[in-house]
Amino acid sequence: MDEPLAPEATRKLIRQILQSGRFTYTKHSREEMLADDLTTVDCENVLRGGVVRPGEYLHGTWRYRVETSPMKCAECGTPMKTRKENYRYDECGLKYVTLVGAEVTRCPRCDNYEISIPHIEGLHRLIARVLIDKITRLTGGEVRFLRKSLGWSGSDFAKHMGVTEETVSRWENDAAPIGPQADRLLRLMVAQGRLTTNYPAERLTKINPKKATITRLEVESRDKQWELLSA
Ligand SMILES: [Zn+2]
Repeated sequence: MDEPLAPEATRKLIRQILQSGRFTYTKHSREEMLADDLTTVDCENVLRGGVVRPGEYLHGTWRYRVETSPMKCAECGTPMKTRKENYRYDECGLKYVTLVGAEVTRCPRCDNYEISIPHIEGLHRLIARVLIDKITRLTGGEVRFLRKSLGWSGSDFAKHMGVTEETVSRWENDAAPIGPQADRLLRLMVAQGRLTTNYPAERLTKINPKKATITRLEVESRDKQWELLSA
């Protein structure tokens, strides 16, 4: 048997197991069932009619989860469908980040959807890392992203940078470019504070303060880690 099985093959196998195989469960599962007022008949129904999720590799074996019923749209009650998409992650405050193969659950009737992001902390850390490594000046949106990633309000940030709140606001709204010293200081604070990672000061010699270019950023979650596909 070649694993992982596709959801359709998993469903077929489940039907065979229910017909002629063996249904096994532990003492722990029995207690959980009883606590939730479920019986083995409910289990059979879920296994037969539930939604089969793609296999997940855990502790040396492939596991296949079956979920009760498709999630219903909170707006119109229609069962929703989940699939993998390339998702423009504008909500992070940057307009050029794409989550490759993200799990998006959409309503086929209205335009409601739900996006599910695994280990979001690692994702934001990766984006911050890419930003402090770029060799052109930070844009307003990038300044705001890094400032927020430090957990600071505009006024906290102004105090740390030794500037006024108005100056911070001008930087973040692209009304004035962040100066070369402030740009470098912000990168260092992110490297020290949030990322606590190796960030050679030499990098700071390579930043061009005259340009503030952006690069499209594609990231993908693989094996519990966010990876950069392109930048
Ligand atoms: Zn809907």
